Amino acid sequence: MRPNGLGIFPDVTAIHDFLHSTGFVVARNFAILLAVVFWLALAFWVYKDARRRIADPFLVFVATLLGLAPPYIGPVVYLLFRPAETLDERRSRQVELKALEEQLKRARPTCPTCIAPVEPDYLACPVCATTLRQPCASCNAPLEPLWQVCPYCTAPIEPSQVDLDAALTAEAHSIAPVDDAIRLMPRRHFAGR
Ligand SMILES: [Zn+2]
Ligand SMILES: [Zn+2]
Repeated sequence: MRPNGLGIFPDVTAIHDFLHSTGFVVARNFAILLAVVFWLALAFWVYKDARRRIADPFLVFVATLLGLAPPYIGPVVYLLFRPAETLDERRSRQVELKALEEQLKRARPTCPTCIAPVEPDYLACPVCATTLRQPCASCNAPLEPLWQVCPYCTAPIEPSQVDLDAALTAEAHSIAPVDDAIRLMPRRHFAGR
């Protein structure tokens, strides 16, 4: 089917007519509008994202400018160079770190009498003078209460004063079951006589 039989010229006229038809103009304007809206939306997203990640207002302004120009490429460049962490993430990380430090501080040994912080190798509390550990008789190294031998010089450790008392009390009970209040004085008294 040939339209009017007038060759190519009517077709060119048809294209020209189409380009100036209301439908095409509306579609073109709509495409331009979409492109502009998308461009502004990307720039707005860059502004919002930069505010979440950058504290300095001037740098946020620079990032927003980059989001606007060059169009579409600026936001991609921003994506490549934006800070990896948001400000909230950094803040919560710092809070976590501080809590961890507090926990470590609390885990440090303290004096049982005055709760002053002490080091693991202190022999006595520097604040209230409570004896914390016995020194080794041979090399003066601080000893833990349960140690049987000095780990620094291999000298055998004498039982501590508390252990000696407990051992003596147990022995006294096994030999002669007497009342706790009078168990030692009468014996010394008898021995004196
Ligand atoms: Zn103390
Ligand atoms: Zn020792």
